[in-house]
Amino acid sequence: MKITFIGAAAGVTGSCSLVETGPFRIIVDCGMFQGDAGVESKNFNPLPFDAKSITHVVVTHAHLDHVGRLPVLVKNGYAGQFFATRPTVELAKLVMDDAFGIMEYDNKKFGRPLLHGPEDIAGVMERSKGVEYDEPIVLKSGGGEETVRATWHDAGHIFGSAFIVLEAEGKRVVFSGDVGNVEVPILRDTAALPKNVDLLVSESTYGDRLHETKLTRQQIVENMIADGTKRGGVVMIPSFSLERTQELIYELNDLIDRQHRLPPMPIFLDSPLAIDALKVYRKYPEYYDEEAEKYLQSGDDVFDFKGLTTTYTRTESMKINHIPGPKIIIAGAGMMNGGRILHHARRYLSDEKSTLLLIGYQSPGTLGHQIYSGKSPVRVLGDEVPVKCQVKMVGALSAHGDQKKLLQWIGAAQPKKVFLNHGDPWCKEALAKKLGEVGIAAEPASSELKVEI
Ligand SMILES: [Zn+2]
Repeated sequence: MKITFIGAAAGVTGSCSLVETGPFRIIVDCGMFQGDAGVESKNFNPLPFDAKSITHVVVTHAHLDHVGRLPVLVKNGYAGQFFATRPTVELAKLVMDDAFGIMEYDNKKFGRPLLHGPEDIAGVMERSKGVEYDEPIVLKSGGGEETVRATWHDAGHIFGSAFIVLEAEGKRVVFSGDVGNVEVPILRDTAALPKNVDLLVSESTYGDRLHETKLTRQQIVENMIADGTKRGGVVMIPSFSLERTQELIYELNDLIDRQHRLPPMPIFLDSPLAIDALKVYRKYPEYYDEEAEKYLQSGDDVFDFKGLTTTYTRTESMKINHIPGPKIIIAGAGMMNGGRILHHARRYLSDEKSTLLLIGYQSPGTLGHQIYSGKSPVRVLGDEVPVKCQVKMVGALSAHGDQKKLLQWIGAAQPKKVFLNHGDPWCKEALAKKLGEVGIAAEPASSELKVEI
């Protein structure tokens, strides 16, 4: 069995690996590179393999850096199926459509090229097949005798996320996808890695650090909302539309409707993608953890509470302006590099009573990163806006497990060999060293690296 690292080998985005065994050529994830213009230009590089020669595509989860170039496979002649859990299939469609909408806008406004067409997204969807956690499927190729067994297990990272176990030629290889954080609402914990793994390809996003905090996630949310609203202004939360937003809504439901620890107040979910994603969450309650399931059975709609308004259309979104503070606006994009949050930022960044809460990683070059770094004034939708509001960064709500979580998860199964991808070089090095200390052979992966087992 041969594994080639294609994307997310030198950084955290563009996830893509190729597994070759017998007549099989399997692609694991095919995501977009995200970051500054230089990084994103890599999306237009020709694929380093012939898409027509690929026999199967398996997908870990619906984040853009794991699914964004699936349509490119179709465009280049891949004619086979795409396998992922049922929520991943549905969420991937929303994510690909959203990304296409942005590309189309950039194409019309700035003449930037399109990576693929809507017909390529349709091609992915027509040939997507939903799988269940823990139920192996058997992949076949061209009527031959040989097979590959593929099994998806819950990764606890986002709704429907999985790590994938591939078994063939008596070997067992695991692709971690992204590994979830601990004590995440709605999601179940990351399933245990199987034993006797010959090769684990693991992410290492936070391989060098700990998310340590004495407060629970819910206390963090409670404090940030209470502090932000007490001055009577607007609390702006640029939020990643998938998972982080739904978790925030779930926590607010608990704090306002169930525990009455926060008073009801006007809260706006101003992101069409996040609102669409909520429908997928509602459709698959069998994927919830025990607590969310219990709340649901008690009759509580865990994604709705007193004061919450979802604003899907532009007209609805504009009405938010007329509601007096204190109020909370949750809007995409998470790093403020686009989306409706920009309209609110243009209006309220200069308001001393308002607060900007950054709740996730801010990539250098994005507006979120500029504000976080103290820049003022900043350019928002063509206007120079002075930053006078409070700016706060809350790092503990990450969707990724930290070093401790990764060490425990990998350590419990003692795989024979580990390659680390999906992390900055220092994160991969730090985690490889820690794994080495507990007797597990681990190495950082690099672009185009080929491994045979
Ligand atoms: Zn992810």
